[in-house]
Amino acid sequence: MKATSQQTQSLALIVDDEPFIRMILRNFLEREGYKIVEAQNGIEALTVFNQLHPDIVLLDAIMPDMDGFECCTQLQILDCSKHIPVLMITGLEDEESVDRAFEVGAIDYITKPIHWPVLRQRVKRLIQQSQLQQKLEAVNLELLRLVTIDGLTEVANRRGFEEYFSQEWQRMKREQRPLSLILCDVDYFKSYNDTYGHRVGDRCLLKIAQAIKDIVKRPGDLVARYGGEEFAIVLPHTDTQGATYIAEKICDVVRTLAIPHGNSQVSPYVTLSAGFTTEIPQPNSDLEEMIAAADRALYQAKTAGRDRFVQNTLATQMQ
Ligand code: GH3
Ligand code: MG
Ligand code: MG
Repeated sequence: MKATSQQTQSLALIVDDEPFIRMILRNFLEREGYKIVEAQNGIEALTVFNQLHPDIVLLDAIMPDMDGFECCTQLQILDCSKHIPVLMITGLEDEESVDRAFEVGAIDYITKPIHWPVLRQRVKRLIQQSQLQQKLEAVNLELLRLVTIDGLTEVANRRGFEEYFSQEWQRMKREQRPLSLILCDVDYFKSYNDTYGHRVGDRCLLKIAQAIKDIVKRPGDLVARYGGEEFAIVLPHTDTQGATYIAEKICDVVRTLAIPHGNSQVSPYVTLSAGFTTEIPQPNSDLEEMIAAADRALYQAKTAGRDRFVQNTLATQMQ
């Protein structure tokens, strides 16, 4: 039979303690276009599996040192074995052995003497199935990522914010550690759009989001687009001093972008206002209240003249 591209690229691991069986399996599968690697017992199979990541494992049941059942059990624990099919090929036909093979994670089972046309179809189909499963999983992961990302600014969207803030709020409550939340809002952005057009407005939002992202660097931090021209920054394990530092840097970085704004009443450039709050969540405190607190601080920053940040608890102007 002529090799297909799927078969040419696929690597089959043959595990059997009998050299003759390994040889006839190798010869047959090589003729089918597969690449082959061999192991003579379970222990060797695990090592080879880890090193070479085969696309399928053809596994004998009875072997010295580590038998096929134990080997199959161990394979399932490996991270890299996900979706990789294990096909048991064995002389054991009793009900208990068949049941055991499936229990330990084999995806299929064929008995010796080998029926070669059946083996050909099984191997081909099992590899196809596993490749399809891997693709589906990758697509699902990408979809999960996309539903929490804002298409325009490429930072987290409102949904991403809600999920992450709630998760971190609970975590900081358990650990009794400080959590900070900064809410930012671009100043006079309506008139920016009116002056330069919506598309230029969009590009401005993208620049601001990326600039904020560049300064909020800890792995646990999250930058999100909270609304139209509003951004939220979640800072776990961050106290008032840390949040003050970040809020100040955010205001600075937007000024430094020096995006011209001919109709702002505070600056010749685009600026933003920010409000933040820091708390150690308590059993009786409320997550929504924390958002409202940051929002009140933002409002104060606006009424105090914009292009500045305000901390909620002290309710004093910081700049
Ligand atoms: P303030 O300083 O009080 O925040 O004034 P403002 O004009 O920024 O506030 P307002 O909330 O009145 O206007 C927000 C504007 O943001 C309205 C809309 O034109 C603009 N906006 C919201 N979402 C988008 C977007 O996705 N793209 C663009 N280009 N503009 C947006
Ligand atoms: Mg707004
Ligand atoms: Mg605004």
